[in-house]
Amino acid sequence: MPDIQKISEESVAKAADILKSGGLVALPTETVYGLAAFALDDEAVARVYNAKGRPSHNPLIVHIFRPADAKNWAQVNDLAETLMAHFWPGPLTIVLPKSGKAVSQAAGADLDTVAIRCPDISWTKAMLAVGFSGPLVMPSANRSGHVSPTTAGHVAYDLGDKVDMILDGGTCPNGIESTVLKIEDNHAVLLRPGAIPTDAFAPFISDLRLVKSDAHISAPGMLKSHYAPKAKVRLNATDKRNGEAFLAFGPTDIEAEFNLSDTGNLAEAARNLYHALRLLDNVDCIAVAPIPMHGLGEAINDRLNRAAADKKNR
Ligand code: AMP
Ligand code: MG
Repeated sequence: MPDIQKISEESVAKAADILKSGGLVALPTETVYGLAAFALDDEAVARVYNAKGRPSHNPLIVHIFRPADAKNWAQVNDLAETLMAHFWPGPLTIVLPKSGKAVSQAAGADLDTVAIRCPDISWTKAMLAVGFSGPLVMPSANRSGHVSPTTAGHVAYDLGDKVDMILDGGTCPNGIESTVLKIEDNHAVLLRPGAIPTDAFAPFISDLRLVKSDAHISAPGMLKSHYAPKAKVRLNATDKRNGEAFLAFGPTDIEAEFNLSDTGNLAEAARNLYHALRLLDNVDCIAVAPIPMHGLGEAINDRLNRAAADKKNR
C-alpha cells in the first residue's frame, strides 16, 4: 500500500521533499487527483509515464503555483494574460508557444507548445511556504485510458506502490478535468471541454470552437477511447435492459443503480461521474440516461462518449 496522508503542514512539507528528490506524489486538485513529479527532472517525468502506462507522445500539463510563473515557461500574449487574470487559479489549461526556458523534454512530447495551469488548491501555498515553487507535471493519477480518480482511494486502487505518497484531500470538488484552450495570436480553440463551461469564455473569445481530433495535437484527452471503465457503456438510454446497470440523471421511474444527480444538477453530476463509473464497473454494460448538452453537460457528454468508444481507438 502507498503512504496515504491527510493534508496538513507536515504532510505537504514531506510531499515537497519527495518531489524535490525525484519521487512521485498523488495530489488532490479542484478537478481530479493528479500524479505529480518535478517538471525539470527528466527521470521523475519518465516515472510518471511508466506509472500510468501513458504513451510517450502524449504531453503533460505543467502546473505552476503562482499565475506570474507562466511567463517562465510560455510566451504569454494579451489574450492569455486576460484569461489567466480571470480564471486562475482555477480549472483552465492554456496551451501556448514555449518560451526560451523549458521543462523536461519528455513532458513536452517534442511539441513547440506547452500546456500550463495554475490549480486552485491550498497545498500550492503550503509548498511555497516551505520553499518549493514547482513547477509540477501532473496528469490524472490513474492508469492511462481509464477513469480519472476523484478520491485518494481511487488513486491507491489504480496505482498502488507506483506512487511514493498520496495526499488525501477528500473528494475533488469539480470531479472533471480542466478545460483546455489553445491560443494562437489573438485566437483560441477549445481542445477539451472541462470544468469551466464554454460559455464562460464568451466575454473574452467570440467564436470559441471545439477542435475535432487532430493528429498534430494528439494528446490523451483527445483520444477517442479514454476515461473508460471495463464495462461497456450505452449512452442516451431511456430504458434498462437485461444485465445492465442504470446510471440516471434527474428524476426517473427506472430502477437506477446510481443517480448522478437526483435533481438534475450538472455540477453535482460532474462531481459524481467518475465515482459512478468506477462503482458500476462490475457489470457487462452501464446504460446512461441522456445528459443535456448545456453548461457542464458538454464536458460530461465528452467524457461519456469517450467512455463508450471502442477501446481499439485508445
Ligand atoms: P491529462 O493531464 O491527462 O488530463 O491530459 C492532458 C491534456 O492536456 C490533453 O488532453 C491535451 O489536450 C492537453 N495538452 C497537454 N500539452 C499539450 C500541448 N502542448 N498541446 C496541446 N494539448 C496539450
Ligand atoms: Mg487523464
